[in-house]
Amino acid sequence: MAKRIKAMRGTHDVLPEQASRWRAIEDEFAKICRQYGYREIRTPIFEATELFERGTGFSTDVVQKEMYTFEDKKGRRVSLRPEATPSVIRAYLEHSLAKQGKVLKLFYLGPMFRYDRPGAGRYRQFHQLGIEIIGTPSAVADAEAIVLLWEFLRGIGLSGLKMRVNSLGCEKCRVEYSRLIREFLKERLERLCDDCHERFERNPLRVLDCKQEMCKAVVAEAPEIGSILCEACQEHLAEVENLVSQANVDYYIDSRLVRGLDYYTRTVFEVFHVSSGVDNSLGGGGRYDRLVEDLGGPQTPAVGFSAGMERIAQALEADGVDVKGESRLDVFIAPMGKQAFPTAFKLALDLRQALSVWLEFDDRKIDRQLRSASRLGARFAAIIGSEEISKGIVKMKDMISGEQFEVPQSEALKWLKHRLKEDSLE
Ligand code: AMP
Repeated sequence: MAKRIKAMRGTHDVLPEQASRWRAIEDEFAKICRQYGYREIRTPIFEATELFERGTGFSTDVVQKEMYTFEDKKGRRVSLRPEATPSVIRAYLEHSLAKQGKVLKLFYLGPMFRYDRPGAGRYRQFHQLGIEIIGTPSAVADAEAIVLLWEFLRGIGLSGLKMRVNSLGCEKCRVEYSRLIREFLKERLERLCDDCHERFERNPLRVLDCKQEMCKAVVAEAPEIGSILCEACQEHLAEVENLVSQANVDYYIDSRLVRGLDYYTRTVFEVFHVSSGVDNSLGGGGRYDRLVEDLGGPQTPAVGFSAGMERIAQALEADGVDVKGESRLDVFIAPMGKQAFPTAFKLALDLRQALSVWLEFDDRKIDRQLRSASRLGARFAAIIGSEEISKGIVKMKDMISGEQFEVPQSEALKWLKHRLKEDSLE
């Protein structure tokens, strides 16, 4: 036998049972986004590397260490997207979407790629759901993003959630805070991990995001940004807090939250599942008022978030919540004998107008077919043999009660729809 090939490290297959849950989660996300007035956008999974260097930020771990970058056949530098925000902004500028209105509200979902060390809840190909609100500096938009993320996660059945919120301030506050942190860390370099020595050189704020225990201990004593925020930034944060608290979001201000990407200004937030821990956040985001400009557009304030599908699915599992996907099969059509296949095929065509139907492909014994029907979770089996064909009927077997009914073939769809409706009313 030829050698088998395995999925690459850090990637995973989403098998049918899980995929139907994922589909249900994605549908819920699309639904709530539409309720809030967002429209979907889909962008390519690879882009010019420079987009992320300038967008995500040259000093971030994501760009420095985690990008899948390669040269294509023409020698262009290409990267698999590590996140979607720079791509969405690129598309916004490339297609002049600003013409569609003062504010644009978009949502997306799809795979992202980061060459990180795989671990619990950390993959090299993972999947994100997210939104972007482009074109407003309003604190109401920050609050809407936070509330949408919260309501989505609560809506799919998660509990034990907490939201941490912070402000990184405007350009001026940030420079000042960076300076303070640099001074603070300079005295404590020997207590930081090797990566943080590098981070200290590139962008000292990155150290606040380190997950190593030794660095976390240092960061716990670091000055808080709250102490230096300018008045306008303080007001902005207070307004966000005021709005968010009206929506029953269980949040607290964490003045050391910085998040891993470079472009954030003012509000940042992160939601986590208490039992999975603060370091295993389900999603997060913030305001990014400079990014559009950094990517060559006019000054355009914006805010957004992204959440991780794998982490959400794990949290649901930990909570014992089964998000019901559409994996149910309504009917299994079981032809008896080769001559029954044309009639069975025609019946499948009719029933598939409204129902989910499995048509048996092979000439197999009826008890084997019924075993398959039950394994597939079919609600009914429709049995057709030579006797049924000559009488113009189909034998419907209720796979729960075991009862059998003779139904005219022309009535089969109506009969099944009626019975399935009764099920849904029970
Ligand atoms: P970020 O884009 O870094 O702000 O991350 C947003 C969310 O994406 C996180 O809260 C996680 O849920 C998820 N996420 C980020 N990186 C990974 C990864 N390597 N594997 C799985 N999920 C991830």
